[in-house]
Amino acid sequence: MKNQNLNANYIKNAINPLAFYRHELPNAPLKKQGWNSGGLCPFHTDKRPGSFQVNMETGGFNCFSCHVKGGDIIAFTMALHGLNFSDALAKLADDWGLR
Ligand SMILES: [Zn+2]
Repeated sequence: MKNQNLNANYIKNAINPLAFYRHELPNAPLKKQGWNSGGLCPFHTDKRPGSFQVNMETGGFNCFSCHVKGGDIIAFTMALHGLNFSDALAKLADDWGLR
């Protein structure tokens, strides 16, 4: 890792969950607060929206259909891209220009 100061709290404070999920889920009609429909689930072959939800305060995500879930945008990045924790931090930092 290039920047040793990269840590989870820094990443989570720097990236707003709403901005993050608008980027990751461009077709979901996300509102500013609470749990939102995330549109089609990116973790399974989803044909209609309704199962996948994301939380705009915490960055948490949950799919009632394929049962993938996590507590923040770091967990989302790990699950979606198959990364370990530190690699997910590095990807987020790169994607969002944080180093
Ligand atoms: Zn799913």
